[in-house]
Amino acid sequence: MKTLVINTGSSSIKYQLFAMPAGTVLCSGLIERIGEEQGHIRHIRFAGREALEYNNQAPILNHQAGMQQLAGLLTDAEFGVLAGASEVELAGHRVVHGGEHFARTTIITGAVKKTIENLASLAPLHNPPNLTGIRMAEKVFTRATQVAVFDTAFHQTLPEHAYRYAIANKFYHEHGIRVYGFHGTSHRYVAKEAAALLNKPLAECNLISIHLGNGASMAAIKNGQSIDTSLGLTPLPGLVMGTRSGDIDPAIIFYLHEHLGLPVNEIKNLLNKESGMKGLTGHNDLRQIAANADQGDKEAQLALAIYTYRIKKYIGAYMAAIGPVDALIFTAGVGENSALVREMAVTGLEHLGIVVDKKRNQAVTGQGDIAGRGSALRILVIPTNEELEIARQAYALVNAAG
Ligand code: AMP
Repeated sequence: MKTLVINTGSSSIKYQLFAMPAGTVLCSGLIERIGEEQGHIRHIRFAGREALEYNNQAPILNHQAGMQQLAGLLTDAEFGVLAGASEVELAGHRVVHGGEHFARTTIITGAVKKTIENLASLAPLHNPPNLTGIRMAEKVFTRATQVAVFDTAFHQTLPEHAYRYAIANKFYHEHGIRVYGFHGTSHRYVAKEAAALLNKPLAECNLISIHLGNGASMAAIKNGQSIDTSLGLTPLPGLVMGTRSGDIDPAIIFYLHEHLGLPVNEIKNLLNKESGMKGLTGHNDLRQIAANADQGDKEAQLALAIYTYRIKKYIGAYMAAIGPVDALIFTAGVGENSALVREMAVTGLEHLGIVVDKKRNQAVTGQGDIAGRGSALRILVIPTNEELEIARQAYALVNAAG
């Protein structure tokens, strides 16, 4: 079954075409700078012997034009793999916020679209473009069953004492202010991979999943279910991120407003776009920061210490929340690639049964276990694959339904 996974942003459409249930990637690509003076398309066809790449710069008027170009590429004689857009039978859409309405992957109906629209107040930057992507895909891939996979769904198993904030009850009951969490598709994917590595059913696995990309979050997973997570109502709290602050004293916001005269919009921008590693070092790419730290840059060294100390604190907190833990999982850009961050994050946790093998940690590529001798927990590095997880969930849903 040809399954198209679509991730639509405010000016971009990221996609992968899979052959399911095998999970083989046939094509992938990114259409970006939609609506800007100059758009860009990068498309790769994997089917056949060699990967074939198409690159083009030209204006892309709107998302509908982008989606039509995508259909054109999938059916192109040279770069495509399909005879017609109607060969796409299934489209899996990444939707950032499902609120409390969607605890699982869902076939898209008019009512589902309305709910996604109503949730825009909780994810103003993400849900509206996600919905646009759905509407455009319905027009272009008319034969496909459209399915929504929510970033928040995996965390709908959080118990109430973990998802409620200690503010007046009406803010939850009347306005839905609570922890929702994000990166759920990634946490779920690596948890399943970890269960396979541990040779246990997921429902018997206790895991701490550490997703360190540009955005970053951790999930406490007990018996295969998320019971706590570090992002909240929004993707701002928790770990230190590329440009987001993570946890801060909320009163800093009042201080910035009342004493430094910063308007609320500027504070929002500061905490989301100019903080985290960027705020501490001027860079948001961990590779640059690690290289600078290695050259003796004190700011970069301190930033890495702050970044990894925060992870360490959450490991401790989640070990307390879960009980006996089988494994830690490092994933996403930084988690998969930075041996330095992994080592700094777990060093000194030997008393909790966490012992890293420095050589294995340096040498690991792809999936691997970097735990050292005497470690009670396994320390896994697992590359995430959110697109494949979306394709698998969409496929499982329509096949269960059919
Ligand atoms: P993601 O959001 O998962 O794509 O992760 C992107 C981030 O991963 C980049 O901003 C980099 O900071 C980080 N990254 C990628 N490769 C490496 C590497 N080899 N070492 C350290 N960080 C890396």
